[in-house]
Amino acid sequence: MAYEGLMVGVSGVRGRVGEALTPEVVARFAAAFGAWAAAGSAGGRAKGRRAAIVLGRDSRVSGPMFHRVVVSALQSVGCDIIDIGMVPTPTVQLAVEHHHAAGGLAITASHNPIEWNALKFIAPSGLFLDAEQGAAMRGTLDGDIPRATWDELGVLSEDSEAVARHIERILAIPFLDADAIRGRRFHVALDCVRGAGAVIMPALLDRLGCRVTAINMETDGRFPRAPEPVAENLGELEALVKSHGADVGLAVDPDVDRLALVSDEGKAIGEDFTLALAARVVLEHRAGDLVTNLSTSRIMEDVAGAAGRRVIRAPVGEVNVAVRMRQENAPIGGEGNGGVILSEVHLGRDAPVGAALILHLLASVGKPLSEIVAGYPRYSIIKDKLDRPNVPLDGVYAALREAFPDATADTQDGLRLAWSDRWVHVRPSGTEPIVRVIAEAADEAGARRMIYEARALLDRLA
Ligand code: MG
Repeated sequence: MAYEGLMVGVSGVRGRVGEALTPEVVARFAAAFGAWAAAGSAGGRAKGRRAAIVLGRDSRVSGPMFHRVVVSALQSVGCDIIDIGMVPTPTVQLAVEHHHAAGGLAITASHNPIEWNALKFIAPSGLFLDAEQGAAMRGTLDGDIPRATWDELGVLSEDSEAVARHIERILAIPFLDADAIRGRRFHVALDCVRGAGAVIMPALLDRLGCRVTAINMETDGRFPRAPEPVAENLGELEALVKSHGADVGLAVDPDVDRLALVSDEGKAIGEDFTLALAARVVLEHRAGDLVTNLSTSRIMEDVAGAAGRRVIRAPVGEVNVAVRMRQENAPIGGEGNGGVILSEVHLGRDAPVGAALILHLLASVGKPLSEIVAGYPRYSIIKDKLDRPNVPLDGVYAALREAFPDATADTQDGLRLAWSDRWVHVRPSGTEPIVRVIAEAADEAGARRMIYEARALLDRLA
């Protein structure tokens, strides 16, 4: 079976609806995942009990269509389905743990534009599939997927409590001072981009005593703007904060694993600050280091350093950060794109968790967000990409290391060269024939210079 135009990653598969992503393709992947999960859980289950898969989706227009396909495909391989409805992806991850399920499936293309949809595969641990699990699961795709006979078909049931449990888990974070947050009666401006955030964010903020002024709360998946919560897409939320004099603006992506902040001055402060400020709170209360990926801002070093901790860097990809957090027993981690992972809730990026931590910070510091942010250095980060050269990338990395002998090299994921005040990261994309070049320095000229030098070297070798 060929999958042209389909982006097959370690823990998911995505494509444009009606082009690469058809019901047939989704059914095949869902059945393969179910068969893989059932085989993996067979040893640990009581005889005669079928494997259960937790299923959730975001608000995308194509969600209900693919939902029906996924239910049938899972039934066909003898998996029971626990349907938790339209929910954030982190809610699916938590529900997998709660039900001790054999796996989870989230039907969501995360922050991708409206014409996309995708499946995200969740392991029994509640983490996304790692490279090894992903390869094993895909191994079943092209062979004969073992189907159930009429008397072994899976059964569909519903669980409507997953979001409520998610909220309770957040409010039960031991160091979260919910009373202090309630005492401040924060005015929060909220933008859920007509995604799944509307089913959890207002309820959580209400429990934290916030007054909420919200936009884009219809859960119909008709995104009114590009759904990625990067600063350039948050103009409407910035205006809302200003016109209502809100204390903070919160924006989440359609599947609610990324959180971006708008300051009390009505300015999107950049997603790097979400994890940095959340980490500041957690490191005050918990021992251990901060884990993030190799392409995340060095503001993480500033925050961890202030708490006397280290930053541990993992390869790009949420599951790589999560696995490293588990290995290092790290209390907090995530990505510079607004993805906050608090290990004592679960090892997945979780925007509602991030929002609670940010409100805790505002309540405990007692200063406006703009003032808190002003206390940190600003860096300039530039992301570039180019066609993958026709030479082995190892040669490119060797040449780069030779050209910059004074830098510290990290070779876990491509090549990252770091100095005390700047870094550049060159890595092949996992899903496209391109090389990404990301650089950060104290100012834009410094970052551009590093991009330029890396590019010149790549061009010369290609
Ligand atoms: Mg997302």
